[in-house]
Amino acid sequence: MIPVSLSWVAEQAQGQLLGQFDSSIVVSGVSTDTRSIQPGDLFLALVGPNFDGHKFAQQAKEKGAIGLIVSRKIDTDLPCILVDDTKLALGRLGAAVKAEVAPKTIGITGSSGKTTVKEMVAAILSRRGKVLATKGNFNNDLGVPMTLLRLERHHEFAVIEMGANHLGEIAYTTNLVKPDVATIVNAAAAHLEGFGSLLGVARAKSEIFKGLSEKGANKGLAIVNADSQFADYWLGKLKYNKVQTFSAEKAADVFAEDITLGLDGCAQFDLVTPTGRIGITLALPGTHNVSNALVAASLAMEVGASLSDVQEGLRAMPHVSGRLQVKQLTNQVKIIDDTYNANVASVNAAIDLLSSFAGRKILLLGDMAELGEKARYYHEKVGEYAKQQGIDELYSLGVLSQSASAVFEQKGKHFSELAQMIEFLNEHVIFEKCDISILVKGSRSARMELVVKALEDSP
Ligand code: ATP
Ligand code: UDP
Ligand code: MG
Repeated sequence: MIPVSLSWVAEQAQGQLLGQFDSSIVVSGVSTDTRSIQPGDLFLALVGPNFDGHKFAQQAKEKGAIGLIVSRKIDTDLPCILVDDTKLALGRLGAAVKAEVAPKTIGITGSSGKTTVKEMVAAILSRRGKVLATKGNFNNDLGVPMTLLRLERHHEFAVIEMGANHLGEIAYTTNLVKPDVATIVNAAAAHLEGFGSLLGVARAKSEIFKGLSEKGANKGLAIVNADSQFADYWLGKLKYNKVQTFSAEKAADVFAEDITLGLDGCAQFDLVTPTGRIGITLALPGTHNVSNALVAASLAMEVGASLSDVQEGLRAMPHVSGRLQVKQLTNQVKIIDDTYNANVASVNAAIDLLSSFAGRKILLLGDMAELGEKARYYHEKVGEYAKQQGIDELYSLGVLSQSASAVFEQKGKHFSELAQMIEFLNEHVIFEKCDISILVKGSRSARMELVVKALEDSP
């Protein structure tokens, strides 16, 4: 974080500095957690589902906190900034630091691909200057302000992922972020329990555009996925912004031509933009990453990246862990590790990749979480899609995913225990003398990475 004074923090957080303290004391950071606080930080006490942060004030002091941000008076000899609501104060501080550093800012939301697109944009923009990007999945109403607080003076770009599991969450975070350019990567069946319907998802995601400036020379740019069933819905909401479209299927402001898939599953294509075209080779497998690359290119080019920055950035970027990582298990058996998370769109995207490999194709599916009342229906749909795409066998683990393996009849099997699944695979699959590709996928809560690990650890 940029160094700021206690009085600056009190003013920006809309709080009141209690007691007689030197308000010019410099704060080196704001921490919400005594388990990771650094000396010189202010400790901001959040009230969470498990703990009341106010109860950790003494611990914060012992670990070197130089002051507290609290929503009720507590007994302490540290300087205290009293605010109405510490969570809102965190947001105000994040927004204030962002406004102070004023980097070119990119906002990204969507049902799947946010982190991937964020990594792509960061890889492209780091060829131009210093980039701050969301770490891991710090993309909610706490994670976004915490990310903004990490900004330093030298950052020229901020690439911010915004997620949501309820209406209004992105409206809140985008107003802190105030992006110069923003996009919805896609909208699909995910977090349906919080949004009610697919249209509910599309509506919640569209809140991101509310953070764009609608005025004068600094008008923000909204980037719309022309391949989404919600493209017209979003375009209809964008009367006062600059707008650009992208498509992996047809002509748009930014689009792909001559898409081919390499043996490693990574796509090559011509990127066509309003300022010219260039050949792209992706470092990440799967045709859905063409769409991700198009939106990443559009976002990065709006804040100054050139076509060759896009080409080089995308070619050289590192893998995103747990997202479609192709691992060689034995000479003949490949694992496609996509265990990080799952929803209907991302499972279908991974099935597309699996279907492009030669040999026997097997899907190991854990449950997709948070799909609401129609959860079984969505699992069945995924099973049907896998069958239609020529997947040979589908083995499921969990409860809901049984509806997917049932579609495969004799070529499907359901397991309620991980150990049984591994035993079955070791006996019936791994030692076959033919090329086998195994896609492993499920929601975060399904912890399908344990399946990958068990297969890797099997003798
Ligand atoms: P989260 O909501 O968990 O933050 P995310 O939106 O950040 O997820 P990623 O982490 O980039 O998404 O990818 C999650 C999963 O979605 C991976 O399995 C990935 O292969 C798949 N995926 C990525 N991009 C797309 C896309 N454009 N369409 C469909 N699936 C995708
Ligand atoms: N907290 C803390 N020290 C602890 C445990 C919790 O500072 O040893 C903070 C935590 O970082 C959060 C607040 O207390 O800001 C409320 O905690 P929460 O209920 O969210 O629990 P958590 O999920 O962080 O364990
Ligand atoms: Mg993410």
